[in-house]
Amino acid sequence: MTTNKAPETIAASNGIGSDTAFGAVTPPLYLSTTFTFDGFEGKRRFDYSRTDNPSRALLAETLAKLEGGAGAVVVSSGMAAVDLVLSLLRPDDTVIVPHDCYGGTRRLLAERHARSHLRAIFVDQGDEAALAAAFAEKPALVLVESPSNPLMRIVDLAAMSRRAKAVGARLAVDSTFLSPALQQPIAHGADFVIHSTTKYLNGHSDVVGGAVIAAREEDVVELAAWANIVGVTSSPFDAHLTLRGVRTLFPRMERQQATAGAIAAFLARHPAVAAVHYPGLPSHPGHALARAQQKGFGAMLSFELRGGVGAVRRVVGAVRIFNLAESLGGVESLIAHPTTMTHAAMTPEERREAGIGEGLLRLSVGLEAEADLIGDLDQALDGLERAAA
Ligand code: PLP
Repeated sequence: MTTNKAPETIAASNGIGSDTAFGAVTPPLYLSTTFTFDGFEGKRRFDYSRTDNPSRALLAETLAKLEGGAGAVVVSSGMAAVDLVLSLLRPDDTVIVPHDCYGGTRRLLAERHARSHLRAIFVDQGDEAALAAAFAEKPALVLVESPSNPLMRIVDLAAMSRRAKAVGARLAVDSTFLSPALQQPIAHGADFVIHSTTKYLNGHSDVVGGAVIAAREEDVVELAAWANIVGVTSSPFDAHLTLRGVRTLFPRMERQQATAGAIAAFLARHPAVAAVHYPGLPSHPGHALARAQQKGFGAMLSFELRGGVGAVRRVVGAVRIFNLAESLGGVESLIAHPTTMTHAAMTPEERREAGIGEGLLRLSVGLEAEADLIGDLDQALDGLERAAA
């Protein structure tokens, strides 16, 4: 979907002022499950909301424009979006999956593999030998999460796309951590972009949703048909709320990532912190790549406490502004312990292989004042140092 408008303009205004019934500035919410036919065989654009719905279609159109795709399919969760891409595969097809992806994604791939719906190979995508061995299996699909959850590893999307094309594989990129405001995988050769719209796109922690944006029209048609067949399309109300969130996506991302950068710098200097994983830090192994392929470093980071799980317990009990909760991408700041929360579905062995230690904490940085958030972490970590002393 090509457009000459700046992405900020698309986010703020796509569909605004388009109501032909009353001239409503904000696009109406169409909750109706069904639509009248214009007489015998007179199907209009919409007939039944599982198949297509004006409110959901407007969100899909907006996301497709923001990602530079041919179209989008809006579904009921980020997991449904990942699974929708998997629906393109046959039982003999191999899919390369990052070993350190979101725990739920890993569980989905492992379960589909166990049921012989596909063949999943979990690979450290930063390990050249492991990646070469996986590509030798002639995959049909390569799944990438960049930045990865929770270690913020960066994958070279253009290089992965070239490699995938060389063996006839499709490339799907879960770009949830950055949103189209900060990364557009299709421009780097991806065939599909996956979003948990639950996160930055909605941005207010009040909708669970997902979307797949496809580079090619024929893929949009196939994905939309499957979403209708299995009935995973999102509710119009959720789509309406998500589009309302998209209106402020750019300023939210800009502010939140600026604060995240300041927090990362603060944590990197703190004696209780062993390591900080934030692509915006020059010390991060993916810093140069992130600078080249992203428009910003995002507002997610993780850090390791020297005191292990005991220190984790103290910090999550001491923070006053950060909320101890899963999920990310909302206006409020969250702190999570991947081992016991977001990545609990992985076995201890799988977590060890992925580098997710017990002392790791993940932050989703929101819109609160930078000084308040740093002050909150400062007092929580200060307590920790006194306790250790
Ligand atoms: N992809 C990533 C990177 C995620 O972090 C998540 C959820 O945390 C998902 C997908 C799944 O999204 P949802 O919770 O909307 O199903």
